[in-house]
Amino acid sequence: MGAACAYYCATAGLRVSVVERGAIGSGTTSACEGNILVSDKEPGPELDLALLSSRLWRRIGEELVRSTIEYEAKGGVVVAGSPDSADGLRHLTAGQRTTGVDAVDIGPDELFELEPNVTRQAVGGAFYAQDAQVQPVLATAQLLRRARMLGATVHPGTGVTGFVRDGQGAVTGVRTDSADTPVLYAQWVINAAGTWAGQLSELAGAPVPVLPRKGFILVTEPLPRVVRHKVYTAEYVANVASSDAGLETSVVVEGTRAGTVLIGASRERVGFDRSISLPVLRKLAAQAIGVFPFLADVSLLRTYLGFRPYCPDHLPVIGPDPRAPGLLHACGHEGAGIGLAGATGHLLAQHLSGEKPDLDLTPFRPDRFEEATP
Ligand SMILES: Cc1cc2nc3c(=O)[nH]c(=O)nc-3n(C[C@H](O)[C@H](O)[C@H](O)COP(=O)(O)OP(=O)(O)OC[C@H]3O[C@@H](n4cnc5c(N)ncnc54)[C@H](O)[C@@H]3O)c2cc1C
Repeated sequence: MGAACAYYCATAGLRVSVVERGAIGSGTTSACEGNILVSDKEPGPELDLALLSSRLWRRIGEELVRSTIEYEAKGGVVVAGSPDSADGLRHLTAGQRTTGVDAVDIGPDELFELEPNVTRQAVGGAFYAQDAQVQPVLATAQLLRRARMLGATVHPGTGVTGFVRDGQGAVTGVRTDSADTPVLYAQWVINAAGTWAGQLSELAGAPVPVLPRKGFILVTEPLPRVVRHKVYTAEYVANVASSDAGLETSVVVEGTRAGTVLIGASRERVGFDRSISLPVLRKLAAQAIGVFPFLADVSLLRTYLGFRPYCPDHLPVIGPDPRAPGLLHACGHEGAGIGLAGATGHLLAQHLSGEKPDLDLTPFRPDRFEEATP
């Protein structure tokens, strides 16, 4: 998110500094898949953001050269395992089509043609041509590389420890733990601290409730092209939208350029607990085999986990914070922060350049949670 903001702001001619306490891309961005999805969103502000972002990622892919970020416009396939889930899916696709999503209902024959190795138990599904994929860490590095070519400076290994305020309370910079740059002054500061954005916002006295939502991914040994699209089950959308703190798993399977197949994804709110849970991994593996039976004979290389930046109303926080003039937020994108990064960076750069943003930022405003609390 920070890299996308830097890229668009530098492109707009703004002078940009990026401050990252660890290595570049070391947050949740290095612990996710790289799906750029419109398919898993119900009509509403997040889908509008996703549609804009999918167009922008295509442009970024062209500008940065697709192969350098492994951008693949591979399309998404949703699999319905029962007539009931096929009905639910058709209801979703009908709504999505009214907002500009290219969603096509498909029967079993079309499904097996698109994904020859998918379970023969499937009764149909949907195809989404707009779904795409990038390699998130490469994308982060390349966006920052381009931003630096446009004059941005990047400070890895530099943690923000506080904010500088002027006499009127406006944010005019950040304090850091670096001896080289203990203070960085700026007309605007964007809080793009991912799952830690809540902690950073507290430091600024303008809290936004960003919480960790843990997820595991399984990685198979490299395989030939046995999974052609991003494939998930119809139940996935309900899990994404759920606010349940307990464990939820719904399978998402995708091949990568390297040949490994990524299998996700679990969701649970257990704070920043980094422990490995074998029961969760077994459940993910079993669900994946349910969709692609051949996976039963495939070895796993490894597993990894990350913490999605979750907001209670499932919408990201994007825009200027009226409680701390000079502060903007670009955080809380939960399980879609790669996909939504293009639009988020673009809209904030438009706002900071005095242009009217392509989308209304009102649904994402940072102070909305205060209104929600009686
Ligand atoms: C299992 C899993 C699968 C996922 N799959 C997808 C997917 O397919 N598609 C998708 O779009 N999204 C996916 N996501 C979600 C996605 O990973 C996140 O939404 C996205 O990475 C968030 O990006 P970010 O830049 O906001 O946060 P981060 O990548 O976490 O970056 C925030 C950075 O801020 C830094 N930071 C924090 N505090 C400070 C401080 N005080 N000073 C300086 N730096 C600080 C951190 O070190 C970190 O590098 C998935 C997530 C998980 C866990």
